[in-house]
Amino acid sequence: MEIIRSLQEMQLKSLELIRQNKQIGFVATMGFFHEGHTNLMKRAKQENDIVVTSIFVNPLQFGPSEDFEQYPRDEQQDTTVAEQVGVDYLFLPEIQDMYPTPLIISMNIEDRADVLCGRSRPGHFEGVITVLSKLFHIIQPSKTYFGMKDAQQVAVVDALIKDLNFPIELIPVSTTREKDGLAKSSRNVYLTNKERQEAPQLYGALNKGRKLVVDGETNTDIIVKEVMDVINNHTSGRIDYVELLSYPQLEPVSVVNRPVVLAVAVHFNRARLIDNLLFDEYGNLIKQI
Ligand code: AMP
Repeated sequence: MEIIRSLQEMQLKSLELIRQNKQIGFVATMGFFHEGHTNLMKRAKQENDIVVTSIFVNPLQFGPSEDFEQYPRDEQQDTTVAEQVGVDYLFLPEIQDMYPTPLIISMNIEDRADVLCGRSRPGHFEGVITVLSKLFHIIQPSKTYFGMKDAQQVAVVDALIKDLNFPIELIPVSTTREKDGLAKSSRNVYLTNKERQEAPQLYGALNKGRKLVVDGETNTDIIVKEVMDVINNHTSGRIDYVELLSYPQLEPVSVVNRPVVLAVAVHFNRARLIDNLLFDEYGNLIKQI
């Protein structure tokens, strides 16, 4: 595995690979790898000649009171893990190279970003699509892999790729979970022991909501209330949101009569956790967008 820090070197390397008819699969990350990340890399390895993974904790997607400084980082461990998984190029750009001067061009999102995480994290998804546009231009992948744990991010990246005609195929990958159901996340290290015990209830609550649909319930308010009750009764977390929206449009629905995402965000003391389930009007889980 080769480590590249220079933007120009990465772009030249990609151009050279493309000239050799190599297909590049790309996984964008903020590092502190867990199995959720490595599953994206493994999938990319199966489907491409070359895998490029980036680690960049993007300041643009963190709000002023969010955890940019505290976000967990471990470059050495990540390097070992990426090498083991078979990543070919680990791209580690520096902030001053990605943003040498204040940006003159800003990206605006008209839809899909004012609900769920976008509501409580204004500017977050604009920061995400800005950095991804830069990374896509530098790495020029044929395919890019994103986790469904961040379902809204997948919906926004889907729009980015289509609206701006990036010649890239977006591959959504199912959420990787701990044995007890908790979605793997770099932020899980910030849970106290007690919170860690409670955290699988988020997945439990989502499944209870889905079960209502399996049993014939279609009323969104009833499903959302059930999920909220489970979280409030079984965790010490503070709910940021529980929402049920059409997917990938992310529009409000009063009845479940099409593919929907049921999504939660819950604040614990030092970590805000998110999770979701995607299912059809019968409550059957769906993988693709
Ligand atoms: P992050 O480093 O948190 O920005 O995540 C990088 C990529 O890994 C994103 O596409 C995430 O959706 C994905 N990812 C993070 N956690 C998981 C998980 N538990 N299962 C599947 N994908 C994940």
